[in-house]
Amino acid sequence: MTDPTQVPFVDLTREFEALRDDILPSVEEVMQRTDFILGDDVDRFEEAFAEYLGVEHCVGVGNGGDALYLALRAMGIGPGDEVVVPALTFVATIDAVLRTGATPVLADVEDASRLASRATVEPVVTDATEAIVPVHLHGRPCDHDPLLDLCEDRDIRLLEDAAQAHGARYRGKRVGSLGDAAGFSFYPAKNLGAYGDGGAIATDDPELADEVRKLRAYGEVVKHEHVVSGINSRLDTLQAAVLSEKLPHLDDWNERRREHARAYRKQLSGIPELMLPDPGPFDHIYHVFGIRHLDREALAEALEKRGISTGIHYPVPIHLQPAYEELGDTRGDFPTAEKICGELLSLPMFPLMTEGERDRVVQALREVAS
Ligand SMILES: *Cc1c(COP(=O)(O)O)cnc(C)c1O
Repeated sequence: MTDPTQVPFVDLTREFEALRDDILPSVEEVMQRTDFILGDDVDRFEEAFAEYLGVEHCVGVGNGGDALYLALRAMGIGPGDEVVVPALTFVATIDAVLRTGATPVLADVEDASRLASRATVEPVVTDATEAIVPVHLHGRPCDHDPLLDLCEDRDIRLLEDAAQAHGARYRGKRVGSLGDAAGFSFYPAKNLGAYGDGGAIATDDPELADEVRKLRAYGEVVKHEHVVSGINSRLDTLQAAVLSEKLPHLDDWNERRREHARAYRKQLSGIPELMLPDPGPFDHIYHVFGIRHLDREALAEALEKRGISTGIHYPVPIHLQPAYEELGDTRGDFPTAEKICGELLSLPMFPLMTEGERDRVVQALREVAS
């Protein structure tokens, strides 16, 4: 039971309750067929997701980080190559680059959009740059066309990190269909989430898709013939069955997120201490509704006391994480990302949040924000 005095940051049980009569029989069928590894439901989901995105090929893999890593490997990225990633993202983006042996090069983000852009990426592009990985952070599409022009001018590959943007559109096309390839995550709390780990690569390039199919299964092409050293990163058949049941609801759920965002924006607009997320010119699908406040910690604490759970996406930019110290970037190198990370606070945002819950978040913010 949900406690009426608390507003959760996200509540995944509600989606399950809404779909349990579809999901449980599908899961049971997999168990009866026992095709747990790359079974029928994986093919079925790959086809459905490719069609949804408007791409030729979708390849299901073990998680979103592997999707990015395997896409980069399939592009031939490796030691000696540079790959540009934003300083404000989840660590999986840079980790994927490091795993290929290539050198990640960070780019700052824009203050209003919180995203990398041509203006922030171009200054760090060198002759060694082989790819850029723009991230549609919080579900807001990057301004893709100028980035694509840069890539075409400099003969660079473009891999979208679409892990937070399932279903968002950029100038009429789905995010994930815009670059040479895209990586998706189906981590449970994403806009399209599995009941465990999952991920996928989307691409129009048949050779890239084939290469990822090999790499995700130990480089095997036919049984016992391994043509490349790959890894084990297959989308689990049970997860594919769950995802196939959830995919038809994605657009509706994203619309509910937009509705919550519109209401938040309208009802919070009179509080000068809060900087609300800019919806941007494209179709934002609000994986995260991240406000900014100069004393974010105090605000989060005051909200917590009133039963409102919040999150931070993300509190520390990539270059200030201990794991990436050896890249040599230091405080001050990406001032916009640093500033944003110090101020962000993510409000409760999930499709089946009620209006009453949303009103309680607004009410609490009115009491504590100033
Ligand atoms: C979630 C996420 C990933 C990676 O996803 P996993 O499935 O957890 O490996 C990559 N990039 C971004 C921006 C993400 O939010």
